Amino acid sequence: MLWIRYVYVQPNRATALWTNEKGDTTMIKEVNNSVSVDDLKKFKDEVLHKYPKKVAKKRDKAILLNDPETPPQIQANVRTIPGIITQRGCTYAGCKGVVLGPTRDIINITHGPIGCGFYSWLTRRNQTKPETETDENFMMYCFSTDMQDSNIVFGGEEKLKQAIREAYELFHPKAIAIFSTCPVGLIGDDVHRVARHMKEEIGGDINIFGFSCEGYRGVSQSAGHHIANNGLFKNLIGRDDEKRGDLKYRVNLLGEYNIGGDAFELERVFEKCGINLIATFSGNSTIQKFENAHTADLNMVMCHRSINYVAEMMETAFGIPWIKVQPIGADSTAKMLRKIGQYFGDQELIDKIEEVIADEMVAVTAAREKALKKTNGKTAMLFVGGSRAHHYQNLFEELGMSTLSAGYEFGHRDDYEGRVVIPTIQIDADSRNIEEITVTKDEARYNPRKTEEELKALEADGMEFNGYEGLMPQMAKGSLVIDDLSHYEMEKLIELYKPDVFCAGIKEKFCVQKMGVPLKQLHSYDYGGPYAGFKGAINFYEDIEMIACSTIWKEMKAPWESETYVEAQYAY
Ligand code: SF4
Repeated sequence: MLWIRYVYVQPNRATALWTNEKGDTTMIKEVNNSVSVDDLKKFKDEVLHKYPKKVAKKRDKAILLNDPETPPQIQANVRTIPGIITQRGCTYAGCKGVVLGPTRDIINITHGPIGCGFYSWLTRRNQTKPETETDENFMMYCFSTDMQDSNIVFGGEEKLKQAIREAYELFHPKAIAIFSTCPVGLIGDDVHRVARHMKEEIGGDINIFGFSCEGYRGVSQSAGHHIANNGLFKNLIGRDDEKRGDLKYRVNLLGEYNIGGDAFELERVFEKCGINLIATFSGNSTIQKFENAHTADLNMVMCHRSINYVAEMMETAFGIPWIKVQPIGADSTAKMLRKIGQYFGDQELIDKIEEVIADEMVAVTAAREKALKKTNGKTAMLFVGGSRAHHYQNLFEELGMSTLSAGYEFGHRDDYEGRVVIPTIQIDADSRNIEEITVTKDEARYNPRKTEEELKALEADGMEFNGYEGLMPQMAKGSLVIDDLSHYEMEKLIELYKPDVFCAGIKEKFCVQKMGVPLKQLHSYDYGGPYAGFKGAINFYEDIEMIACSTIWKEMKAPWESETYVEAQYAY
């Protein structure tokens, strides 16, 4: 039975919280109608009008008015037009910085100039927690071969070998990974040959492997994710067959990078429910967790863009089904837990999950009701990542806020329109640049976790395997969806719509705030977090209430807005 518990009404918006007999609260989604579809169309016309004809033609395909029922085709994962200031990072940053970076016991050596190494030095605030004080943790280090002019002219392979020797002598790690940057690809250093050579030279069990993830190799960091996924599968996953810990309810969480402690919160929730988390890719991870991941019985994909390849490969090789989850937002976290209960079908687990949800939702509901009084009816814009611009809309919905515009930095069409469009995506030269590895059944380890009949029965009961419906079906009709937002477009969005909060990264932060709009970083969370799971939702409600409802932003005025003549001196 459902009943309305609270209704908040503002001039352009009404929001209701529904609570069922178990105490779960659900937000009724309302679209903020203070900004009409015509207004949003005005943005597109105004922006495109300013571009040169050819550029306007290209950008036209990446700026769309959404229709959740029949998502329009968006242009995504194509190269940024030269001259446009993009939010994107490079392929090396995606491989080393995003996917491999958060693993604490691999020494990650950047083969390249020092600037590349600094760029990917875990500026996203990934956290890790070694189990004992003596456990290896190299995450606070930044290893680079620091290539100089002479290495570019005469080759850098010897310098790389020397760096590996030094790293081994100092730390005796179980594994060393090498990451290629742009200059390495240009001069033709072979990091794979060096890896093989050094593995032989050092001997023993050490695992040394390389990634051809030169910054220019793909359209964005997305290519680096794919290359990292291939490397994880070829070099780590499936090397340790020992089943440790509880043999029941064994799951992996894919695409969770422990920003601000998100993985810790999710680990807490899983443990409370009795769910056995084998590996997270790659927040708070270790080599052993990767090597052992194939002993899990279910893969859950959180960031679809950065890790769906691993989920697909593990299903083919080991028979582990995968589902999409979104543990950002309290309701979405509860939904994820219920999906796990449904998958394993064990009443004891299902009951425990309901007990945990009811327990956690008490604090969540209190925090949400408090924040909602101030946040309801406010507006947000999200331009970040390949999944965050989608997942964080759950939290804004829970706060009664509507998303006027959103888009990804490095998403593909399937991240917008859903995986159903994958067969229609054209393979271009950039995609061909990335190695496609052929994965077949692992004869010794392949073990389908569910029979065909069991999978069909779960599907008939509403469970979706290998599916992701993308960002567009969740967004309101007429909202603006923009891929690879440019700096100019960002300024126009702010000028025209003044959202109450803008979510992006450090490159955008201070420009946006100088325009009098608060910016919440969703790569690094500024200094906040965790925002995943139940406690994370509470943190987010509090932080957004504080940021979006502060009156300080209207005081942000550039000197020329209040003075007709501005004089300044250089300070040396
Ligand atoms: S684009 Fe190339 S040079 Fe720049 S950080 Fe990435 S790898 Fe280094």
